[in-house]
Amino acid sequence: MKAIIVREFGPPDVMKLEEVPALTPGPGQVLVRVKAVGVNPVETYVRAGTYARKPNLPYTPGSDVAGIVEAVGPGVNSVKTGDRVYSHGTAGTGAYRELTLCEEAQVHALPDRLSFQQGAALGTPYSTAWRALFLYAHATPGETVLIHGASGGVGVAATQIARANGLRVIATAGTERGMNLARQQGAHEVLNHRDGDHLSRVTPLTGGRGVDLVLEMLANVNLDRDLDVLAFRGRVMVVGNRGRVEIDPRKIMSKDGAILGMTMFNATADEYRTIHAALAPGLENGSLTPVIGREMPLDQAVQAHGAVMESGAFGKIVLLP
Ligand code: NAP
Repeated sequence: MKAIIVREFGPPDVMKLEEVPALTPGPGQVLVRVKAVGVNPVETYVRAGTYARKPNLPYTPGSDVAGIVEAVGPGVNSVKTGDRVYSHGTAGTGAYRELTLCEEAQVHALPDRLSFQQGAALGTPYSTAWRALFLYAHATPGETVLIHGASGGVGVAATQIARANGLRVIATAGTERGMNLARQQGAHEVLNHRDGDHLSRVTPLTGGRGVDLVLEMLANVNLDRDLDVLAFRGRVMVVGNRGRVEIDPRKIMSKDGAILGMTMFNATADEYRTIHAALAPGLENGSLTPVIGREMPLDQAVQAHGAVMESGAFGKIVLLP
C-alpha cells in the first residue's frame, strides 16, 4: 500500500510517496479503500510546521476521504464492507493514501448521486461552513450573509448551505470564473474581491441596512472593512486568516456587533453528529452538491499543495490514489 509520508516539516517536496505497512481495523474502526482525497489549505500550514498544532513525525497529511469500506473492526454496525462512504477525520492514519483507518463516527454514507471526488470535498469544507453558520454565528432564515471567498471549498459549501436554509447570499470571488461559480451555487449577488472597493457596494445591496453576518475567509485582509458593512447586531465569523490586522473596535460598539472565530479542531463529538445529520438531507436531495475544480493523482500531492494556495479557486482540489 502506498501513502504520502512527511518525515520533516518544510516546503511541499517534504511529502514523499512511500510503501507503507498494511492496516487492520481495531475495535470500532473502519478500513476505507480511498478513491479520492480532499486537499485543504490547513494541510499546507501543518506540513510547513508553522501551524499551532503539529503532528508527531512521520505522518500522513489530510483528513477528508471518500471511498469504499474494505473491512470493519469488532463492534462496528453503522457501515459494512462494500458501503460507499465519506470521512471527516481519520484514526491518526491521515488521508493521502490508498487505504486508511477511520473511527466509526468519522465515516458517513455517501449518497449514490455523488461521486467519490465530491465525497472527498465534504468533510472539512461542509462541516466548517455548517458549524460556522449555524452553531456559532446562529444564522437564521431571512438574514443576509456576506460570504468571502465563495469560489473556494468552504465558500462553495457555505453558499449552498446558506441558500438552502433561506438566507440571502452576497458572495465574493477573485476571478470571473469564480464569480460565475458563486452565482451558479445560489449567490444572489456576487462581487470581485480583487476590486479594492468592492465592500463599498455591499450596504447599497441591502437597501442601506448592512449584512447580518459575514463569513470571513481572509480576515487579515478584510476584517476592519467587514465592520463597515455590518447591520445592527451583525456578526463577523472568522473562518480563515493568514496574518495580523488592525481594526477600529468603535465600529462594532456602535452596532452592538460581534466578531467571532471558530476552528473545526475544537468540534465535539456531539457537534460532528449534529453537523453530518444536518448535511445528509441536502446531500440526498441535491441542494448540497460539491464542486470539483481539479483532480490530481496522489503522487502529485506536492503540486496540489502549491495549487491550493494559489488564487483563482474553483471549488475543491482532490487527489486520486
Ligand atoms: P480554498 O478552497 O483555497 O479557497 C480560498 C478562498 O479564499 C477562495 O475562494 C479565494 O478566492 C478566497 N480569497 C482570496 N483572496 C481573498 C480576499 N482578499 N478576500 C476574500 N476571499 C479571498 O480554501 P478553503 O478550503 O475554502 O478555506 C478558506 C479559508 O478558511 C482558508 O484560509 C482555510 O485555511 C480556512 N479554513 C478554516 C477552517 C476552520 O476550522 N476555521 C476550516 C477550513 C478552512 P479567489 O481564489 O477566487 O480569489
